[in-house]
Amino acid sequence: MLFDSKQTKRRTDFDKETSMRAATLLAFMFIAAPVLAQDPYGSIADLKLAKPEDGKDMPRVTPPSRAVVLFDGKSLDGWTKRDGKTAAHWKLMDNGAVQVVRGGDIISKQKFGGTFKLHVEFRVPYEPKGKDQGRGNSGVYVQGRYEVQVLDSYGLKSGINDCGAIYGVAVPTVNACKAPTAWQTYDIDFQAPTCENGKKKAPAVMTVYHNGVKIHDNVKITSDNTTSGAGGDVCQPGPILLQDHGNPVQYRNIWVVQVKE
Ligand code: MG
Repeated sequence: MLFDSKQTKRRTDFDKETSMRAATLLAFMFIAAPVLAQDPYGSIADLKLAKPEDGKDMPRVTPPSRAVVLFDGKSLDGWTKRDGKTAAHWKLMDNGAVQVVRGGDIISKQKFGGTFKLHVEFRVPYEPKGKDQGRGNSGVYVQGRYEVQVLDSYGLKSGINDCGAIYGVAVPTVNACKAPTAWQTYDIDFQAPTCENGKKKAPAVMTVYHNGVKIHDNVKITSDNTTSGAGGDVCQPGPILLQDHGNPVQYRNIWVVQVKE
């Protein structure tokens, strides 16, 4: 057999190139891919902020000692799918958050009635190609029935379906949204409907603070079940429901303080 040095060199170069490609691919799989999988949130460097703090996280709020902690970042044991039986399937993240995964809403195992305060922290991804209700959509349904909308509504004139809206019932009086990717807070003072002999006499009432700004003040909730809510008897306690609307919204640090049974 003739020794072809050119051929051998080519093959050596080819082998080198192949191993470099393989190494790059492996590096991507083991280093870059998990980071990307953990963080679909993207950079907001190209987003024009009204003020720099709009892009900064709200601080995490420590639950008071008497709070019922529904999600502490470590497990979803306190949650199920909407059927109340199947284990919650959303994804626990390394940053102490849980991220929406397609396949349905999740609900807290514990149900709440009377008067209570609900604290929720959330953030929406930066989806510049998304539009309207398709951009960072999720929602916090108090008692599984009354949705406080979660959406990327940064910088918009708030409507009845925008972030902070009591969906279809009340427009937030102020657009207090942070920019996408920044952590935000809802603090909801909720009073369940007043009932007599199992019949509703007065509707639920809600005051909502978004990132510390009051956006609803004692709003009477005229609907017994806002769009896509879990419904049920409004005279009975209900869970906290977090909505799967197909966008990778994240939640962390969710707790309730019961004020009056
Ligand atoms: Mg929603």
